[in-house]
Amino acid sequence: MNRAAPDLADETDADTIRRLFEAQRPRALALRTSTAAERIDKLKRLRRLMYARWDDIRAACHADFAKPAAEVDISEILPVVAEANHAIRHLKRWMKPERKRPTLLMFGTRAEVRFEPRGRCLIISPWNYPINLSFGPLVSAIAAGNTVILKPSEMTPHCAALMQDMLGELFDEDEITTVQGAVETSQHLLELPFDHIFFTGSPAVGRIVMAAAAQHLTSVTLELGGKSPVIVDKTADIARTAQNVAWGKFANSGQTCIAPDHVHVHADVADAFVEAMRKAVTKFYGDRRDIPDNPDYCRIVNKRHHDRVRGLADDATERGAHTPLGDTAAGGDNYIAPTLLTDIDPESRVLEEEIFGPLLPVLTFTDVDQPIARINAAPKPLALYVFARDDAFIERVIGATSAGGTCINQSVVHFLHTHLPFGGVNNSGLGNSHGHYGFRAFSHERAVLRERFSLAFLFLPPYTRFTRWVIRL
Ligand code: NAD
Repeated sequence: MNRAAPDLADETDADTIRRLFEAQRPRALALRTSTAAERIDKLKRLRRLMYARWDDIRAACHADFAKPAAEVDISEILPVVAEANHAIRHLKRWMKPERKRPTLLMFGTRAEVRFEPRGRCLIISPWNYPINLSFGPLVSAIAAGNTVILKPSEMTPHCAALMQDMLGELFDEDEITTVQGAVETSQHLLELPFDHIFFTGSPAVGRIVMAAAAQHLTSVTLELGGKSPVIVDKTADIARTAQNVAWGKFANSGQTCIAPDHVHVHADVADAFVEAMRKAVTKFYGDRRDIPDNPDYCRIVNKRHHDRVRGLADDATERGAHTPLGDTAAGGDNYIAPTLLTDIDPESRVLEEEIFGPLLPVLTFTDVDQPIARINAAPKPLALYVFARDDAFIERVIGATSAGGTCINQSVVHFLHTHLPFGGVNNSGLGNSHGHYGFRAFSHERAVLRERFSLAFLFLPPYTRFTRWVIRL
């Protein structure tokens, strides 16, 4: 079983990491022939432990960044349990080889795609949904029959220690184990020839991970971030739009990879939208003075990020932006109020960097081609949200842009749909996770062809005019 939780201030040394990696080698080979029933049993035990440690998960998330209990339930526990339920229900079918019909040239062969485990996998996770974004991919890795080393984020140490404890209770370290540490530990891990790396984090670190993986030609899934825009048409139901944007934006205090980053709203409904946002925030969290004490409103993860987000707000307001909602003066305990920014100088940093906090810049447009041009000039976003009742408007936006995923008249909930792929595109990510897509990310799709009486003999040497005639057929 896993060792006791280390002092999380420490990095894990290279020798320990290499020992764990080597120990997983024979287990990874043994798991190649693991059955659906064996994998399902592990998933059921993980699911059971999620229920058994429910209160501990809430406590760890609260200790790390005052995450509200209800948000822990909705965004940390529920998605992992849903992912496990889905895999348990469908794994037998996913593991079945996929038969392929022969082409004319391959007439007389039997062909299929088999889904084999990739082998030894590394999962590096971020701090913003520490449990969900560690155990979610872990479910897919287990379903696909792999061994795993999990490196959680050092910025949420209570969650990291809890996950180590939970995995230690369920698995031998030569199958699934946790390695604690920050950059140095990640670097030691990235030197090893894993069979697959599943990384969730920033695009900047994603580049480092991909460059390291290239040294061993290790396959990668990169779940990255960026600025996810919202477009609100004048035909949208403004009250519902504001409610759905406010929830996606201010849950987890805006520290969500797919949170609406900024809003492009049609000039005709801009004032109504700002007013509706103010109402939605008051309904969710209370009056400006009540919000700091509201247990349903989360904190920024640490002082460094608090100062970074506040710096973005200060830069925008110093350049003349208005804050029709928000309280830029209030502080303490890494609190930042839900904040709207309007009349923003286009040079403001808040329009350039991923915000990852509860600031919502609101920009106006008169022609949908304006936000479309802006979106297409920027790196492709992880999510793009459209609010409208006009189908032509919706299709115009979707058709003219590219994004990892899109919700129409809603935000963020596509993450919870286990039949949909979840992932980014270029700067916002590479590959997909969730459900069947997650299983495939952690599987190698192996082509297997069995000869019966194929026409391949026609191509055997010596090559003659007859061979050339066959090729031209
Ligand atoms: P991060 O990239 O700073 O860190 C992620 C992980 O990488 C951590 O475990 C960290 O210890 C490790 N790491 C940090 N620097 C490293 C380095 N130089 N070399 C190797 N490893 C290193 O990201 P974060 O701050 O934890 O999370 C926020 C970012 O993650 C945002 O950009 C957000 O959009 C993105 N994100 C994406 C998704 C998604 O599903 N696409 C989900 C959550 C967060």
